[in-house]
This record gives sequence, structure tokens and C-alpha cells, in this order.
Amino acid sequence: MAIRKLVMYPADILETQCQQVRVFDKKLAKLLNDMYDTMIEFDGVGLAAPQIGLDQQIAIVDIGDEIGTIELINPEILEFSGEQTGPEGCLSFPNLYGEVTRPNWVKVRAQDRKGKFYTLEAEEFLARAIVHEIDHLNGILFTTKVTRYLTDEELEGVVE
Ligand SMILES: [Zn+2]
Repeated sequence: MAIRKLVMYPADILETQCQQVRVFDKKLAKLLNDMYDTMIEFDGVGLAAPQIGLDQQIAIVDIGDEIGTIELINPEILEFSGEQTGPEGCLSFPNLYGEVTRPNWVKVRAQDRKGKFYTLEAEEFLARAIVHEIDHLNGILFTTKVTRYLTDEELEGVVE
């Protein structure tokens, strides 16, 4: 188990377009395992490589549902539809939550840790989490999409 150091905003790496992953080796598998440990340690539902200082197109999402951990390498949104507006946060912005509008449904193509391509459809909160992480890989932060920040009182209902 290895917990990586989280990069907090502001940092150039968080606003950098990430590079495609071309080598699917043991080092990548170890990195994904470390990202999982780090996400769990900090109570996140997703983590992107720039958040641990790497400009690689690698992200993980786990919202605690039956799907489990989704590993997104070189992900691409193929289709999206609908709209949802709800509170969102980010491990790189402690204690900051805002309302963000995202697609309600997405279809994503990505590679797994072995380099195998797969497609995945997701809706509602899972779609939100996936799009948030893919944005990270393009250097886009959720704060650029917040329409309204939540007040401390509103936060009590969101954060346990
Ligand atoms: Zn984030």
C-alpha cells in the first residue's frame, strides 16, 4: 500500500493537458494501485493522475456502487446526453463545494490497465464523477464550471 501526496490547487500540473499512456506495464499497474489507495485514504470518489503530480491520461473512479473501481486510461467521451445540476467537490480543493451542471448520461471509451479498449455507459452521479475526472486529464478544473458555491450551512447536508 502506498499513498501518494495530493497536489492542491493552485499548481500548474492541475491545469495541464495530460499525455497519452502508451506503455501498459507493471509500473502502470502499481501506479493505479497507489491511486486507489490514495483515493480511499482521502475519501474521494475519483482521482486523476495530475492530482498526484503526473501529466498522464490516467484516472480512477469508485463511487461505492456495485460497479466497483473504474480505471480510465486515455479516456474519451463518445456520447453524452441530458443534464444534471448538483454539488461537487474535488480532493485538490479541500472544503470547497459548488453546484456544477454535467451531462446526465455519458458513453466513454477508455483502456484498462492492460491496454485493452472498453466502452462504458454511466448515468447520474457516476456520470458526474467520470466527467469530472476526464476534465482533470484535459487540465479543466471543476471550479471553472461552478455556477454557485455552497455555503457552510448547505455543506452540512452534503459532507458527512
Ligand atoms: Zn477533482
